Amino acid sequence: MTTAVSFQNVSRHFGAVRAVDDVTLDIAPGEFFAMLGPSGSGKTTCLRLIAGFEQPSSGHIEIFGTTAEGLPPYRRNVNTVFQDYALFPHMSILDNVAYGLMVKGVARAAREAKALDALDLVELKGFEGRRPSQLSGGQRQRVALARALVNEPKVLLLDEPLGALDLKLREQMQVELKTLQRNLGITFVFVTHDQGEALSMADRVAIFNNGKIVQVGAPQEIYERPRTRFVADFVGSSNVLPPDFAGKTGAPARWMSLRPEKITIAVGGTPAKAHSVAAKVTSVHYQGAVTRVNTDAGGQAIAVAAPSSFGLIAIGDEVTLSWPADALHAMEDEA
Ligand code: ATP
Repeated sequence: MTTAVSFQNVSRHFGAVRAVDDVTLDIAPGEFFAMLGPSGSGKTTCLRLIAGFEQPSSGHIEIFGTTAEGLPPYRRNVNTVFQDYALFPHMSILDNVAYGLMVKGVARAAREAKALDALDLVELKGFEGRRPSQLSGGQRQRVALARALVNEPKVLLLDEPLGALDLKLREQMQVELKTLQRNLGITFVFVTHDQGEALSMADRVAIFNNGKIVQVGAPQEIYERPRTRFVADFVGSSNVLPPDFAGKTGAPARWMSLRPEKITIAVGGTPAKAHSVAAKVTSVHYQGAVTRVNTDAGGQAIAVAAPSSFGLIAIGDEVTLSWPADALHAMEDEA
């Protein structure tokens, strides 16, 4: 089957900087694919390579079976939604959305009809006569989306498109984007450094570090079975236990990840033989539904996410932490 986007050993170097370093990757048609990683890890450069704003230093890129090298952006059937939306302030919303079609030479009546359809898709019908400054941040974001969708791209590239929105609006847009993507069946490639966003929206997530993809998988797989310490740490603040500590708790002496929400905390008590340790509470952070309790287990820091209904717990309390054997996940030795 044709892949939507295929990278074969793709690198992009800027002088000595290996922004993208030997990346091989297949994205399926209709997939919602997230690129997740810290700042400077190469996500945006990958997106720009797909869009055609950058050319690979080496390697090969295909978009729906067509070689991308040498193809200019406008011949790629790909559109980008940028973080700052890049709307034209002096144009109406309708003209903003119809702009791409105007450049392509589509006649006024046809392009305006298509622009209205696109505005309808993002639930902005009735706003076509306004200027961007007369819209809220979330509405501007939708205009940017409509402006990309009106070109009927096969691949939509989204570069941190929700970054400028406040938390509540961002969560609402996450749901809307996912629904829109499912209904349209377009391949979405989404760049973010927000793990919650990637995990909640994407079919698959690629974790970037230093220009390389460290792991690709379904959100659950990435979260439950991180391949390396970096992934465990980056995707949702896991406890990373070194081999000697893991060995002392009855687990194999390997690097292990242990999710804070899988740990049971009890005040006092005596640790069981395996998968249990005595610890002392070092800080308590109430976060609404859960309370994060940081503890010290003989020099090893272990964080616990306990339901807030658990009750009172205070700094200095002696506690027993325990977890089911399958809460531990062994990782590769590389950092
Ligand atoms: P962010 O989340 O901060 O946007 P990113 O993961 O998208 O980060 P990139 O923008 O892809 O990272 O950058 C990867 C690396 O390549 C960085 O070290 C960056 O400084 C460098 N880089 C990107 N573009 C250029 C350029 N045009 N010239 C020189 N270096 C560049």
